[in-house]
Amino acid sequence: MTILDDAKALQGDLVRLRRVLHAEPEIGLRLPRTQEKVLAALEGLPLELTTGSVLDSVTAVLRGGLPGPAVLLRGDMDALPVTESTGLEYASRIPGHMHACGHDLHTAMLVGAVKLLCARRASLAGDVVFMFQPGEEGYDGARLMIEEGVLEAAGARPVAAYVLHVTLGQSGTGVFRTRRGPLLAASDSVRVTVRGRGGHGAAVAVVVRFIGHRPRSLPQGTWRAG
Ligand SMILES: [Zn+2]
Repeated sequence: MTILDDAKALQGDLVRLRRVLHAEPEIGLRLPRTQEKVLAALEGLPLELTTGSVLDSVTAVLRGGLPGPAVLLRGDMDALPVTESTGLEYASRIPGHMHACGHDLHTAMLVGAVKLLCARRASLAGDVVFMFQPGEEGYDGARLMIEEGVLEAAGARPVAAYVLHVTLGQSGTGVFRTRRGPLLAASDSVRVTVRGRGGHGAAVAVVVRFIGHRPRSLPQGTWRAG
């Protein structure tokens, strides 16, 4: 059996898990029902499990059968404040909550990775830390999990961390895109205060001309004057 055969054998269970996660989305750092479903999906596997205290995270460590460095795999689990109107049979049952960013998929996919790697434990060189993270959508969940020790969960610090994000309509099904170095940077915003001499737009020569002086470090498109 190849790893692809094993993955295909898990597909039905993972689709079901993704749909129950999708039907009951939770927002922010407290995801008790999501955490419960993840813990149930991991039951009986050879893992060292810990849960968060200030957030409903799950950290699972798999000890490889051979010596090697630890690596970390991360999946985010939180939903968005959106009301779903797809009419799908597994659509969100919670008004104002929806897995509109695909984190239900990430959670189910990470469970799939746990199962595939657990089945190959004997030939695994090194440990794997699985990081099920709440609060990706602006709640600083990763920092809180780091403060609660996810990077020390296996003993030695992971030498690498891997994460993926699904997209819609940007690539064909089955296509993975990546690059060297860091990927999936956070989007953020900056507040700029301009102090100077105001005036009428028709007399720009005598006022501080602000528009047009975009700092080079800010990419086009994120810049708004006013
Ligand atoms: Zn997302």
